[in-house]
Amino acid sequence: MSDKPIKFLLNTHHHGDHVGGNEVFRPFAMIVAHDNVRKHMLAAPADILREYPARLEAAKKADNAQTTKFLSEQIEWAKKAKVEEIAAPIMTFDSELKIFLGGETVNVWHLPPAHTDGDSVVYFEKARVLHMGDDFFNKVVPFIDVTHGGSAKGYITAIDRVIARVPPDAAVIPGHGEVSDVAGLKVLRQYIADIVAAAQKAKASGQSKDDFLKAVDLPAYKDWSGYTDRFKSNCGAAYDEAK
Ligand SMILES: [Zn+2]
Repeated sequence: MSDKPIKFLLNTHHHGDHVGGNEVFRPFAMIVAHDNVRKHMLAAPADILREYPARLEAAKKADNAQTTKFLSEQIEWAKKAKVEEIAAPIMTFDSELKIFLGGETVNVWHLPPAHTDGDSVVYFEKARVLHMGDDFFNKVVPFIDVTHGGSAKGYITAIDRVIARVPPDAAVIPGHGEVSDVAGLKVLRQYIADIVAAAQKAKASGQSKDDFLKAVDLPAYKDWSGYTDRFKSNCGAAYDEAK
């Protein structure tokens, strides 16, 4: 925590759990993000009204109370939302930027599509601290947002690109999970590499996506939170990308 004024707010991507505070900061902070973050935030009401009603019906049929509640609330929000009032970033960039604050140099790097197609990570040079946004879930099964350009294979490319640019002793903050280090980040890279390899093997042997998803199992990651919710959808994304 700091008692200094907050001048900049960086959105690592457009998801609600990472941009939900924008409205609070908007009166006094410059909100900065990759071009696609603004694009996705402004498109959200239309996207929700187009895609969520069918998902809501499916959730109701499956008796999934939690998802039904979430989707209903989102639809209600989208009906009332005014695009011009959405607290989207007002300064955007397409590849990278630096912010010089006193003695600190803050590097913001957009990465190849991984969690979404608008991901950025932030590296504080002097402090040797890297914030990965949701390109790093620490011992938590990631969400790969394919409908917003996310990619399983892309996670590997993105992580490799970051590791090449930071010192090996950098502290690494994930979007979800405990603060970690470069070795911890490599564990997520291994998880992604393992699901990509499993999907490629299945596809090469002619296994259908349904059969692959029924059979696939990576016991090494079973104690990660989100395994039951997101593991199969990660595998589905990897299968769709496999050649
Ligand atoms: Zn996210």
